[in-house]
Amino acid sequence: TQDQTDEEVVEQEVDYNANPIVSYKDVHKSFGDVHVLKGINLDIYPSEKIAIIGPSGSGKTTIIRMLMTLEEPSEGDIIVDGENLWKMEKGNGEMVRASDKHLHGIRDDIGMVFQHFNLFPHKTILNNCVMPLTSVRKMPKNEAIELSKEMLSRVGLGDKLDMYPSSLSGGQKQRVAMARALVMKPKIMLFDEVTSALDPELVGEVLEVIRDLARTEEMAMVMVTHEMDFALEIADRVLFLDGGKIAESGSASEVIEHSENPRLQDFLKRFR
Ligand code: ADP
Repeated sequence: TQDQTDEEVVEQEVDYNANPIVSYKDVHKSFGDVHVLKGINLDIYPSEKIAIIGPSGSGKTTIIRMLMTLEEPSEGDIIVDGENLWKMEKGNGEMVRASDKHLHGIRDDIGMVFQHFNLFPHKTILNNCVMPLTSVRKMPKNEAIELSKEMLSRVGLGDKLDMYPSSLSGGQKQRVAMARALVMKPKIMLFDEVTSALDPELVGEVLEVIRDLARTEEMAMVMVTHEMDFALEIADRVLFLDGGKIAESGSASEVIEHSENPRLQDFLKRFR
């Protein structure tokens, strides 16, 4: 194998008979009168790498924001690791979120990297990683520092620990954001168009880190992306979101190279 790191390459097969780590059950979302998601049914399996593609405004980001409880579904259930994160009451159709007690456990399972890096500007990059570990996880400080250094090396920033975000390039900031999510050891990582705010020459270094994670980490990954070649290379499954639904779902090759869905072909013409 041609791995450039000394990490063990896992190349795991996804076990589709395992219990899903996340299930969306007939999930709808409206913003005012705009019915954005019209019945999303999706099971995400442990270690599965999923790419979500689709036109701008089709609801890709909304799907993952509901999993971060940044948006409330209008209808349906979302289950994480067997626990209801969102549940629609049978009688009145009201949405109920997991109680605070359960929410902590569920949030521990999920990491997210945003389009805009959301780093703490007044903390060094080391402390950007250490702080969530000591404050949220209550990890002893020396342990948190060790783990953070390890993850920052992993994303190629081991020599920049004492720098502040403002002195880093966009690509480096995005790699800090990844290290900060990774130190929490989530079972599933969400990547929301993480390269779309970057200058073109910085995209490659960020994709390379994700590629490395996909090859070596057992966590599930869900990526909203417009990088079709990248999706082809690393995704076990690609979802094409269109008209408020998952219009196509299959292997990367099936969806990106061999689908006969005219709307998908039309969409792909703009990216390939
Ligand atoms: P995508 O990620 O596929 O580009 P989004 O999930 O960001 O799509 O958005 C889907 C639709 O929902 C868009 O029309 C967007 O304008 C709308 N939308 C998203 N978030 C909000 C919000 N907080 N308030 C109102 N409309 C929103």
